[in-house]
Amino acid sequence: MRDIRVNRRGFFSGATVALGAALPEGAEAGAATGVEDRSSRIRITDAVPHLCRDRVFLRVDTNLGISGWGEIKGVVPTVAAELARSMLTLLRGENPTRIEHLWQTLYRAERNQRGGAFMLHCIAGYDMALWDITGKLWGVPVYRLLGGAVRDKLRAYPSTTAIKVGVGVKGFGADPADIESMLEPIRKAREKVGPKGTVMFDAHSSVPPATLRQLAAGMEPYAVRFIEEPAVPGNMEVFKQLRAAIKVPLATGERDRTLWGILPYLTDGIVDFVQPDCGYTGGISQMRKIAAIAEAYYTPIVPHCTQSYLGMTASFHAAFNAPLFMIHEAYDDALWAQVIKPHWKKSADGFVTLPEGTGLCVDVDEVALKRVASDPTYRYQWRGPGRHPDGAVADY
Ligand SMILES: [Mg+2]
Repeated sequence: MRDIRVNRRGFFSGATVALGAALPEGAEAGAATGVEDRSSRIRITDAVPHLCRDRVFLRVDTNLGISGWGEIKGVVPTVAAELARSMLTLLRGENPTRIEHLWQTLYRAERNQRGGAFMLHCIAGYDMALWDITGKLWGVPVYRLLGGAVRDKLRAYPSTTAIKVGVGVKGFGADPADIESMLEPIRKAREKVGPKGTVMFDAHSSVPPATLRQLAAGMEPYAVRFIEEPAVPGNMEVFKQLRAAIKVPLATGERDRTLWGILPYLTDGIVDFVQPDCGYTGGISQMRKIAAIAEAYYTPIVPHCTQSYLGMTASFHAAFNAPLFMIHEAYDDALWAQVIKPHWKKSADGFVTLPEGTGLCVDVDEVALKRVASDPTYRYQWRGPGRHPDGAVADY
């Protein structure tokens, strides 16, 4: 069992013995490497990507026997595993508690990959693991390292009080029946949660602007909290035009990476909520920066999340620390519940308790992980594009 939790007494007594052979003599070259404190002698020794279905669970090991976990999703898993192995060459022997320094090391290591999904999703996996290690080393949950929780509980959906409905691919232009088919689930959701509940609508970037303007006018009586992904990322002018034409609040950001990806939505006043995904945007380290720039624009974060309880919990830590936050996406999944045991609870009405424990406050069952990963009936496949009724490829 490598994923041990170390109390302070155990750390000090074990560290002295373990470090004698592991560390070179004298101070190292490089920023802040000569600083001596409780965290100065821990080093990254290995990183093991565990391929499991459509994702990779990454375990980062250290010379002190403390391991941290991260999740990489949204990249072909064999590619993600190879990228993670390759990135280890930049991290081996480094102090895992220098999280920001190591994040920058990975991000700026290859200018022609910088900012891309493959790079950022893998960095996110490492980032989560480094925060996990650091919290375990210090014996505190990650949210305390971030400056502590600013709320006692975290609102999440779906729940009995908050429902998000969405649409698939829509053709260009809409007839009354098309609009009605999209309004119907919104109406039902509002009836279900009542006037005190929250209804959200995900356009999935798949509702063309002309149709979305018609639809948005129709949804006004149902007090929809926001329209998510009102347009395909890439052309801010389209977002601005929709912003000017639609009264319902807008939200986006799940496919935008780093604070630089989110920033234009804020500076141009395009959205009312930003939706960073911890696993896509670059991990906890980027989540906290996005929360900070969003705070400057009085814009709450509404984190997107389709990760397992591992990546989800990483995102929770950042959200517990974010001053402006509204609601977190969080789906229960029986499959991942076999592998990841999170140490928080969610009530039926959608409130998540503070994570308890150290690091990310999740346990990874490596036996269950291997069992789920070895399912012979599962084959990874690209999701494939959406299709218009006439067979043409569509956005999704
Ligand atoms: Mg979405």
